[in-house]
Amino acid sequence: MKKTLYLKFLLAYFIFGVFGFIVISTFAPSMTRDHLIRENAERLYSEATLISNSYASELYNNEISLETVKDQLDSLAVYMNSSIRIINPSGRVVLDSSKPLNLEDVDMIENFDPTITGNSYYIVDRFFDTFEKQNLNVIVPITADYKVKGYVTIHYAMSSIDDSANSLTGIFMMTFLILFLLSMIILIFFTEMVYIPLKKITYATEQYASGNMHYEFQVESDDEIGYLAACLNYMASEIARSEDDQKKFVANVSHDFRSPLTSIQGYLKAMLDGTIPPEMYEKYLTIVLNETERLTKLTNSLLTLNNLNTKGILLDKTDFDINQVIRNTAASFEGVCRSKNIAIEVVLTEEVMYVNADMEKIQQVLYNLLDNAIKFSHHNSVIKIETSEKKNKIFISVADHGIGIPKDDLKLIWDRFYKSDYSRGKDKKGTGLGLSIVKEIINAHGENINVISTEGAGSEFVFSLPMSKKKNEKDY
Ligand code: ADP
Repeated sequence: MKKTLYLKFLLAYFIFGVFGFIVISTFAPSMTRDHLIRENAERLYSEATLISNSYASELYNNEISLETVKDQLDSLAVYMNSSIRIINPSGRVVLDSSKPLNLEDVDMIENFDPTITGNSYYIVDRFFDTFEKQNLNVIVPITADYKVKGYVTIHYAMSSIDDSANSLTGIFMMTFLILFLLSMIILIFFTEMVYIPLKKITYATEQYASGNMHYEFQVESDDEIGYLAACLNYMASEIARSEDDQKKFVANVSHDFRSPLTSIQGYLKAMLDGTIPPEMYEKYLTIVLNETERLTKLTNSLLTLNNLNTKGILLDKTDFDINQVIRNTAASFEGVCRSKNIAIEVVLTEEVMYVNADMEKIQQVLYNLLDNAIKFSHHNSVIKIETSEKKNKIFISVADHGIGIPKDDLKLIWDRFYKSDYSRGKDKKGTGLGLSIVKEIINAHGENINVISTEGAGSEFVFSLPMSKKKNEKDY
């Protein structure tokens, strides 16, 4: 494909050249010749008319001698590079500029017919065979007393007209050749602006098709081709990024599945081969159970994320009371809170606050945030859930006084499978998927979630939800 486009363009260019040459060499000579004949005929005709009205008329009226007229016509003929004759209606050549004056031996033109030119005022021929070669001939009558006394004829050699036509055709050809060569600039432009960038783009697409998504190329132009190249580059980098993410994701999933499975396998084998005595079974079976719980949690989280991805923004939005959802979620953690002696303080703006969102998913958000807050809180501490209202939005904050998040980790906590090193030790059951689920859900609602955290002091997660206008107005 690469070569043929260029070849096609070259072919079109040369076809244009050849056709142009053929057209000029075929039509230009005849057109130029016709034009020159017409132009010269006009010139000769007006000269002949002048002669007929002046010298010739005077000659026939005997006002001027034949010798004087002959002298005048001779010099005119030299000036016009032609021969001039005065002919009687009978065909007798009274005067011929190309011959000396000879009254004894006058020329007779046989079958002289002044209407030979027909409708036109000129004719191209040998003028009643009085010339060896073709001439351009004009005939103008000489009238006196309303009678035709004779004719003035002027004869111009066609070889002169043919020479002029040929040299003019030569000039046309040369001009065309120069234009043709100049139009090579278009070819250079095409090569620089279309062909070379297109070659780069084609090569890049071949690279991408063969799987080399990291291939980068540059097309320095601001036009459509430059834009196409930039889009292609961007597309490839996005595919490469998502491929990398995919690889990282699979690696993380495998790793997170393998470690609990390895420990389950290890403990069960040790029980079977007697390394762990039966009296210790309870302790190790509890560990095994914990690991299976972790695997279940991991599987569920992966399924949730997958659903969020495939369903995109398909949310089952309803108007519901967020305060109730907060209270219920907090209540579901009562058992864990009691064991760690953690108090959950709930501060709500109103008794009832309707929001427009997908209730089940928001429940999941609150659950994940609260789960983390409790996991990373110290014993005997307080977790505060607070709502505030601003510009038709409700802001929900979940704040703890736990271990906090290191500054460098703040951006990473939203990534799938991300767990800070410290929390890995503290939270063995964590999957690193909780916060990515939270972010996907909130973003799907067109809202935002932020975190403020100080290492060692605690963390606060705040997200917004749109207030349900209708419901809140109705109730208040
Ligand atoms: P996990 O299920 O492992 O908790 P998350 O995606 O919910 O995964 O959290 C990712 C990481 O963010 C955690 O491993 C932890 O390091 C950090 N993190 C999340 N919430 C808190 C919190 N309230 N306090 C301190 N660290 C937190």
